[in-house]
Amino acid sequence: NTFAKIDLGEALNQNIRRCKYVKPTPVQRHAIPISLAGRDLMACAQTGSGKTAAFCFPIISGIMTSSQFAQRPRAPRTAFPLALILSPTRELSCQIHEEVRKFAYQTGVRVVVAYGGAPINQQLRDLERGVDILVATPGRLVDLLERGRVSLQMIMYLALDEADRMLDMGFEPQIRRIVQQMDMPPPGARQTMLFSATFPKEIQSLAADFLSNYVFLAV
Ligand code: AMP
Repeated sequence: NTFAKIDLGEALNQNIRRCKYVKPTPVQRHAIPISLAGRDLMACAQTGSGKTAAFCFPIISGIMTSSQFAQRPRAPRTAFPLALILSPTRELSCQIHEEVRKFAYQTGVRVVVAYGGAPINQQLRDLERGVDILVATPGRLVDLLERGRVSLQMIMYLALDEADRMLDMGFEPQIRRIVQQMDMPPPGARQTMLFSATFPKEIQSLAADFLSNYVFLAV
């Protein structure tokens, strides 16, 4: 019942110790092994439950051990992230970005955040420096896709955070457009994690469309 017992790789385990995370929260204790085993996941989790680490630890760990990470192109005009974390708001995206950056420290994994309601130029410059994990709000990501500045063809991991809030805010069309663009061969190679506080039928239908053979977790 400690992070040391979960095989996340030495670099990430060091960052976890540096951040003084000792004991996994309940959602982390259950979600991390499911994700490390390669399963899709739909999890019920509230703010403050530690859900950010629950999806970002397996993503960082999985990226570091992937061949795509070793072979990634340097600073192409179009960014090819390996993982995408979608969240409803600028505030939440920035919080997630901070958390992922802390744990990606000295791993070589590059993290960029892109959200709407702010000038796009700095975000474009950040993307040009290279990105492995992109944290984004749906509207701004669609803009970046339309400009040809981001491609989702290399995505190995997709995390949808606060999915119910994203639907309440009207982001379903954007989310569906985004997910349509990331079907990397072979089918099913993408691993998807959906986090939501509630499970109305709209969320269940997203899960049915985006997840394959998923584990449902309620803690
Ligand atoms: P979240 O629910 O992901 O927004 O996390 C809530 C807060 O708990 C954040 O400030 C995290 O940094 C912190 N946190 C998450 N998991 C742990 C853990 N296992 N041990 C200590 N703090 C944690």
